[in-house]
Amino acid sequence: MEMWYTEKQTPSVSLSLKTAKTLHVEQTDFQHLAMIETEAFGRMLVLDGMVQTSVMDEFVYHEMITHPALYTHQNPKNVLVIGGGDGGTIREIIKHPSVEKATLVEIDGRVIELSKQYLPEIAVALTGNPKVDVRVEDGIKHIQESKDTYDVILVDSTEPVGPAVGLFSQDFYKGIFEALKEDGLMVAQTESPFFNADLITNVNKRLNNIFPHVQTYLASIPTYPSGLWSFTMASKKYKTEDVNTESLYNIDTKYFTLDILKAATRLPKFVQDLVKGD
Ligand code: SAM
Repeated sequence: MEMWYTEKQTPSVSLSLKTAKTLHVEQTDFQHLAMIETEAFGRMLVLDGMVQTSVMDEFVYHEMITHPALYTHQNPKNVLVIGGGDGGTIREIIKHPSVEKATLVEIDGRVIELSKQYLPEIAVALTGNPKVDVRVEDGIKHIQESKDTYDVILVDSTEPVGPAVGLFSQDFYKGIFEALKEDGLMVAQTESPFFNADLITNVNKRLNNIFPHVQTYLASIPTYPSGLWSFTMASKKYKTEDVNTESLYNIDTKYFTLDILKAATRLPKFVQDLVKGD
């Protein structure tokens, strides 16, 4: 008998994937967690019924949450990830030669442990790398306790439900501003322009109240709702458009290029309107 994993992405849209097997299911202290093997996208981490990452398309998300920020900063040494317990963002961060320390603050230790076990190609940098510090803590608390510390902060969160609700708030963004050094910048994943229009408008409004430069950009991620995903960068000093691509080093990527760094910020008209709040 065929088995299918179906995620109800909105009340009227579902994604269905043919499943080879269910590898693991549990209720952690924070969320329902499943590891599933799908035919089209390989192994997948699902939290509270929402796909977080798949072996086939994870490179898009992890490269695009990381490299625009790290190239725009130009000399990132101390980088923080909030969430991101699968480890893909940390794997990308440590490709940058300037990085001396990459800290992961994930609230749910089970996401880290099970990603190491079932998604080793994604979690590869979470063990045995002297630059990487893995902490099981609430990201909100960590931000409240950090001042003038980080060059770059990446908010690799779940959707704004459960423990992640506060990761989209104005107070949290204020805390991030204070946790960043004077030329620091942040990027947050900001969901689908088709299905989360209000979220993109609200996050842009909140970040514009705090940071001088705010830039939403896009990438195509087939397993995420609508397949079109947004990220929003907020920066104290550096701007993506000012990056001098000639002077930069190259790293090994599958989606990100220095042209993509520019192209991803060229927004379709309806996304420009969401960003402006029109
Ligand atoms: N790539 C993903 C996406 O957009 O669907 C995000 C993946 S990552 C696994 C998200 C992680 O954020 C989860 O493991 C979750 O436990 C973590 N998280 C949620 N709220 C958090 C908080 N307050 N502090 C730290 N981590 C949090």
